[in-house]
Amino acid sequence: MLDKPMETLMTEPVTLPTAEGVRRYPRTEGYFPELPSTELFPDLDKPCTCTPACKSRCGGECGCVACQMQFSVWREERGVQAIRPTEPEHETQLKRYRGEVR
Ligand SMILES: [Zn+2]
Ligand SMILES: [Zn+2]
Repeated sequence: MLDKPMETLMTEPVTLPTAEGVRRYPRTEGYFPELPSTELFPDLDKPCTCTPACKSRCGGECGCVACQMQFSVWREERGVQAIRPTEPEHETQLKRYRGEVR
């Protein structure tokens, strides 16, 4: 079965963490840790695709699902209501997340 068509490899788009993602989530090799779990298992559906241009506390605005998840966990811990990124309050939440405002 060596003559498999190449398309079979392309059916599932696999997103891999970027080098920056690995740097941000070193314990899970660039993936967001699976929740809820006390052990650290990488959630393979949530690779960090951040670039060095991202803020140190990225809220996923670059399209990174790992950091988006991290941001929603932060919100949940504080009982902050989840809102759409299009709402103005979202920017305020991001600033609080980054410690830019209180
Ligand atoms: Zn990220
Ligand atoms: Zn990012």
